[in-house]
Amino acid sequence: MAARIIDGKAFAAGLRTRVGDRVAALKGERDVTPGLAVILVGADPASQVYVGSKEKMAVAAGLHSVVHRMDAETTEAALLAKVTELNADPAIHGILVQLPLPRHIDEGKVILAIDPAKDVDGFHPINVGRLSIGQSGMVPCTPKGCMMLIRDVLGADLSGKDALVIGRSNIVGKPMGHLLLAGNCTVTLAHSRTRDLPALCRRMDIVVAAVGRPEMVKADWLKPGAVVIDVGMNRLPPTPGKDKGKLVGDVDYAGCLDVAGAITPVPGGVGPMTIACLLDNTLEACLALTGTEA
Ligand code: NDP
Repeated sequence: MAARIIDGKAFAAGLRTRVGDRVAALKGERDVTPGLAVILVGADPASQVYVGSKEKMAVAAGLHSVVHRMDAETTEAALLAKVTELNADPAIHGILVQLPLPRHIDEGKVILAIDPAKDVDGFHPINVGRLSIGQSGMVPCTPKGCMMLIRDVLGADLSGKDALVIGRSNIVGKPMGHLLLAGNCTVTLAHSRTRDLPALCRRMDIVVAAVGRPEMVKADWLKPGAVVIDVGMNRLPPTPGKDKGKLVGDVDYAGCLDVAGAITPVPGGVGPMTIACLLDNTLEACLALTGTEA
């Protein structure tokens, strides 16, 4: 039987609407508007596109949205000063520094400077630590979005499910593993040194691929009925006269459709969830910082 196609685009649109409704209620009833500040250093084209989308969607959801564009020669000290200024700004509840930063700036130092209560990316070590010990805090947007999609398919209770996360990055793989563990799954984190990944994968009820290798996960790696979440975003080389380079995930989507129980497409799966969760995190940060109930 063909897999259920998990429509991340529609789910993300619904989430943005729910955030927008809560933002409107907050404004009307408490005169509080959640504020998101994004800092973009330099002119990396992909980062400019991401920041543009974040700004557009934040405004559409009724958030107070500010983008600080700083040139590529900005010093680390100047960036840290901007973060300190935003930490103290009562109109700002979420701060996101768009990564990657130019080489002369220490990313770790900048992340550490963000007030953990305003760290809507969830990358500050305080929030990383909270997630790892099961305390509430800011959860990184992409894994948070993946969890929402998994729960939409399997229901809230994931107890006892065997889950495999392929990839152990700090922004996707590791937080994803912690979230699945907190959801009572039995979690395996695989990486480039994992032995016989296909055999390991075949035992899994849930597979999250966050590798960055086009169409690596094949149909014969899957247990029939598995839920497959494809985080990968890989641009294939362009075909002259045909396309500018197709965007594909880490999963052989067409091949896996007949084996998986449910699967996210690329594009239109995990991607749209990331920004929707950023808006959700900004709302959460605002509620916590202002001591307001939703
Ligand atoms: P990283 O490059 O930081 O991490 C990749 C991980 O994959 C590493 O842990 C690496 O292992 C592992 N890996 C590499 N090759 C293999 C292999 N052959 N077998 C098993 N594991 C392997 O990537 P990210 O986590 O940042 O991103 C992963 C993908 O997700 C990318 O395509 C990225 O574009 C996409 N992405 C999408 C987002 C979205 O919003 N949809 C957001 C963030 C990322 P090791 O640690 O041993 O090197």
